[in-house]
Amino acid sequence: MGIRVHALRCANCGAPVEDPKEQRCSFCGVYLLRLSRLELATIDGKVGVFRSLRPLYLAFIAAAVLSVVLIYFVFFDSLSETLLVRISPIWFLLGVVGTCGLYTEKAVKLVLAQKAETLQDGLIKGTASLPLLLRLLVGLIFVAPRLLINLNKTSSPFWITTTTTAVWAALLYLFLVGIFPAL
Ligand SMILES: [Zn+2]
Repeated sequence: MGIRVHALRCANCGAPVEDPKEQRCSFCGVYLLRLSRLELATIDGKVGVFRSLRPLYLAFIAAAVLSVVLIYFVFFDSLSETLLVRISPIWFLLGVVGTCGLYTEKAVKLVLAQKAETLQDGLIKGTASLPLLLRLLVGLIFVAPRLLINLNKTSSPFWITTTTTAVWAALLYLFLVGIFPAL
């Protein structure tokens, strides 16, 4: 399974992890990341090091932008208001996958470069250069995983992104089915 999260090896140097409760690699000192199998690869002879899924997340961002263009600029006049509301989760959720994936991977890279102490620290540092409004928006997207996922036990961008998107999809569904028709 791609989703099982583990830290059998340090994602930085590939050294085996002796105690699964260890916070840091006893060999190189880097914070131990709990990544999914999808995100681990053998690179330059090192087993179990971080493999970025960045092209996948960039494709989701591109799909989100394309949906916005199609919905609001190309087909806007031919869509009813109700339909517009109903299909708005499409671009939003595509955007959540892309944004969450890119910023959690950025956090992982900051940890591996020893520029962040933990994944949480990497998320804060990774979004620090954004303009305030965007930073708030990205922060808002991450509220869901922080409430549901223990980032010390799971630091897999893939798993965090999947959970975050599922939470947002459920919230939007509740809103569109339960609250919006009553407005
Ligand atoms: Zn290491």
